Amino acid sequence: MDLFEYQGKQYFARFGIPISKGGVADTVDQAVAQAEESGYPVVIKAQVKVGGRGKAGGVKLADNVDEARMHAGNILGLDIKGHVVKRLWVEHASDIAKEYYASFTLDRSAKKHLGMLSAEGGVEIEEVAVTNPDAIALIHIDPVDGLSLEVAQEWVARANLDEEAREQAAELLVKLYACYTEGDCDLAEINPLILTPEGKVHALDAKVTLDANAEYRHPEWDEFAGSDVEDEREAMAKERGLNYIGLSGSVGIIANGAGLAMSTLDVVNQCGGSAANFLDIGGGANADVMAAALEVINSDPAVKSIFVNIFGGITRVDEVAKGVLEALSRVDITSPIVLRLDGTNAVAGREILASHLSDRLVAEPTMLDAARKAVALAGGQS
Ligand code: GDP
Ligand code: MN
Repeated sequence: MDLFEYQGKQYFARFGIPISKGGVADTVDQAVAQAEESGYPVVIKAQVKVGGRGKAGGVKLADNVDEARMHAGNILGLDIKGHVVKRLWVEHASDIAKEYYASFTLDRSAKKHLGMLSAEGGVEIEEVAVTNPDAIALIHIDPVDGLSLEVAQEWVARANLDEEAREQAAELLVKLYACYTEGDCDLAEINPLILTPEGKVHALDAKVTLDANAEYRHPEWDEFAGSDVEDEREAMAKERGLNYIGLSGSVGIIANGAGLAMSTLDVVNQCGGSAANFLDIGGGANADVMAAALEVINSDPAVKSIFVNIFGGITRVDEVAKGVLEALSRVDITSPIVLRLDGTNAVAGREILASHLSDRLVAEPTMLDAARKAVALAGGQS
């Protein structure tokens, strides 16, 4: 779950990371009131979950009430890369001597946390990574060891942060690491992390992604829910109690069991296609569940073919077959369906379907054949 900047900053503040004084505003009048509260000069910032707001005109400085009114009016309603601004964050503006970059994320291949720190912040870090990779100091942190102040001190020196910023930056990084680990983030990023002319180090921006798997131990995250614009397909699936994750490909996937669903994604990739989703209909899935699954996948305009891959264990293939027919009678399915049905009651299931097969409803004997067929029907290799 991605947080808005203002939520990310509030999350940072819980871990003692210094941020500027500010508040949110949903109207121009609220923005002006908040500007008074924060103290001029202020910076008025679009709250959208996309980067590059500054370049898009979504971050403006205001020295007085007239400027605050004008900028707030211009930014509210602004479309930034398809995200319409409905909320502003108004904070006391900082003077900037230096802009740095700092983040923590997980390096899955190293099985460790990865810290990135650069004296060249403010700009997009992807750009720095290409033009001047040596300017990013990386650190791998074993989750068992954590990040000590000593290691953080060595790290800020290695990253060539200005001498006067190092002590505060090291302390801030230890807090950011605590936020990232104890706070169950997938990503905690500050860009820019600034040094002010007065020699203070603090966070001017916040990009936080929370690990949804840890939601159960963070009742305080409830306040973040609802503000997140969910994938429409995922919202629809959630309503129907389905285990669905939206992806960007063109082959809709229905499988029973998470393992088989993942293998199905793999085999679709292997055949040169790409999956539109992950969907595990679980063990013991009946006709209703199958119909609901087909409905959700059918709602996705990117889907060009649907691959139903069922290995009946507890799930009975004849039930699945009935579910497919039931769904076909309920919903106008726009994509051809490829079925691979095997396991418990497979023969009975195939019999139920036999008279319904067509070029819109195809049965294949193996998972690989079915994947090839589904990829071909989706328009071939992607
Ligand atoms: P982003 O463009 O979405 O990453 O938004 P940021 O919050 O990073 O703001 C973009 C840029 O606006 C920063 O890199 C700063 O250069 C500038 N900016 C943001 N806040 C302030 C501030 O308080 N004072 C000054 N002088 N510039 C700011
Ligand atoms: Mn930024």
